[in-house]
Amino acid sequence: MTSSTRGTLLTIRRLELPTPFPVGPVNAYLIKDANQAVLIDCGPGTKAARDVLIRGLSEEGLVPEDLTAVVLTHGHVDHVGQAAWLQSLGVTVCAPPEVETWLQPGSRWDSYRQEFFTTLYTMQGVPEDVIHHANKDLGMLQKLNTKATVDVTLSYNQTCPVLPMFQVLHVPGHAQHALALWNAETGEIIVGDQLLPEISSNALVEPELTAKTGSEAKRTLSLMQYRENLRSLLELEISVVYPGHGPVFEDAHTLIRSRLAAQEKRRQQFYERVVESGGTSAYQLATSYFARHKNQTSLIMSETLGYLDWLSAIGEIDEVNLASGQIEWKQRRG
Ligand SMILES: [Zn+2]
Repeated sequence: MTSSTRGTLLTIRRLELPTPFPVGPVNAYLIKDANQAVLIDCGPGTKAARDVLIRGLSEEGLVPEDLTAVVLTHGHVDHVGQAAWLQSLGVTVCAPPEVETWLQPGSRWDSYRQEFFTTLYTMQGVPEDVIHHANKDLGMLQKLNTKATVDVTLSYNQTCPVLPMFQVLHVPGHAQHALALWNAETGEIIVGDQLLPEISSNALVEPELTAKTGSEAKRTLSLMQYRENLRSLLELEISVVYPGHGPVFEDAHTLIRSRLAAQEKRRQQFYERVVESGGTSAYQLATSYFARHKNQTSLIMSETLGYLDWLSAIGEIDEVNLASGQIEWKQRRG
């Protein structure tokens, strides 16, 4: 397809909203035409974010009640925090149904996730007091979350009912239930946190949601899913990327290729460390590889397990169950 056959780019207004998190500001996007105004993501549930959102809308001649819908790219608190408030104003909340498991602070999903991480971290060598802190952090994060329900459930590979010029794509990796909005005619894509221009997205390990209890839930192979998804994005003729954080950018393919290459390099480094160790817990490996970020347990454990699962899937290392119930990662022999 040449550019001359492409449709005219849409008017997608970026609203950069402050967050109290290390990641910095988050993007919400406003798409407005004569009939409707739709917001994609809505920032954290803080007064500061709400004020900036209200100001941004008013520059477009809108008040929040004028929004017809908000589409959530994934359930993380920096993207969905204003959803309950918007819903109370009559704005329709649209998301894949599983996103609702994040939108219910205090529900069984909080304890499901905590049980999952407690079991996982115990097996992977994380000390008890560190697990306690990690769970406390998770709980605090959820307290900041919003209590909303999904009004319109979005299905992957279907047209977005409130934005018919976009297809809803499933982009698992950073989050399991994450979507991108893809306009095949213009090549525009709104990707949430799946592809960020200034930082590499973390592929976060999550529990599968289908088990009876969190402690029985399997972990997702998030890094491998993430890579597979990045490769499938390479098949799209993308013109402009609207990311969840950082500026709007072009040339998605160059960025995707550099992310994939950086991951391959890191995989090799993890492999060498496992070999040198003669056998290691994931936590030992995580705290030595990410020595400067030692206290960010959930991030460094997700990263480390992502590479270990990948190395195991390609047959280079093994996950060995010790009599203690803990797991040791070792170079595969023979
Ligand atoms: Zn984010």
